[in-house]
Order: sequence, then structure tokens, then C-alpha cells
Amino acid sequence: MTITYRLDDGLYVNMTNRCSNRCDFCIRNYGDGIGNSGGLWLDREPTVEETAADIIKNADGCREIVFCGYGEPLMRLDDIVSVIKKMKPAVTLPVRINTNGQADLIHGRETARELEGLVDTVSISLNAPDAQGYEKICHSDYGEKAFDALIKYASDCAKVIPHVVFSVVDVMSPTDIEKCRKIATQAGVDFRVRKMIQ
Ligand code: SF4
Repeated sequence: MTITYRLDDGLYVNMTNRCSNRCDFCIRNYGDGIGNSGGLWLDREPTVEETAADIIKNADGCREIVFCGYGEPLMRLDDIVSVIKKMKPAVTLPVRINTNGQADLIHGRETARELEGLVDTVSISLNAPDAQGYEKICHSDYGEKAFDALIKYASDCAKVIPHVVFSVVDVMSPTDIEKCRKIATQAGVDFRVRKMIQ
């Protein structure tokens, strides 16, 4: 079971394969892992204790801990909070969460504050400039509601997390990228155009 893997100078954490989206472009549609990660499909989800121990064992030489998953990490929001609290005395690296921004819908409550003081960066995939466009490619369990929810989540995070960023992939049209940049500005978060992972 691959709980953590190195990518660039980060230690990536894989706690779940569950996700509230079924994105057309998801890397999971095309393979079993990312870079040299090895297989990221989990027979079972690792426990909080197993995950914290794996991070402590493998964090040497890394510059960042990234909760990413081969799935949506915030499906396990409560467990991520517990893992960070458990690892913190031994691992003081900055913590990032890469998310689809749907935690509030997934858990049925406002959740941004639960990461306060534990997470340094929340990176949210925006993927489209409007709800219809988002639903067309991301196929959320929550339908078109997902888009407004992820924008609200980003704004909420910006109040309590030092660095919040909306990211889009560079396959989007320049017009849509500019629309997304505007949404990021209105939400009070940074904006990043990233390369599509093949
Ligand atoms: S949100 Fe991420 S993990 Fe989930 S289907 Fe989309 S790309 Fe894949």
C-alpha cells in the first residue's frame, strides 16, 4: 500500500481513492500512479496512525507535505486533521492540501476553520469559469451546486489559511483562463495556471 510518495521536493500523502467528482481529465482514468509513486490504488484506507508514521519515516529531505490522494483528500477531513496533529511534533514542514473544494458539501457543514493553524496552503482546482462548464467536465455528486460551493470554500479558507490558490490547467482557452483569474481575484485568493499531468 503506497501511503506516501515523493514528487519533486514534496512528500505526497495518499489517504483515499474516494472522490465527489468524476473528472473527464482525472489522471486516475489513465493509470495507477504519478511519476515514480508506484500504484496508488488502495486495498483499504490507511489509518491515522499508519499515515502519520509513514510521513514521519519518509519526510527527510522534503520541503513540503502535500495531502493529495489518488482521490479527494478532504473526503477524510477529520482524519487529516488528526494526522497533522500527530505528525507535527516530529515533522514541521509546511502542509498543503490539493482539493476539489467541495468539503462543505461532502460534510454538510462549513469546514474551512477546521484547518486553521494546521495547514499552510490550500490549492483548489477551479477547472472551469462557470457552474455549467464545471459540471460538464467534473461530474460532481452535487451537480452544478459544486461550483458556487468551491468558490465559497476558497473565500472561507482565505480568512484562516495563509495561502489559498485557485489552479487551472493550461489546456483551457485563454478567454476561460482570464475569467477564472477574475473569479480568483473576487474570491481573494491567488491564481495559478499549471501544466496538465499526463
Ligand atoms: S477531483 Fe481530482 S481526484 Fe477527483 S475526479 Fe477530479 S481530478 Fe480526479
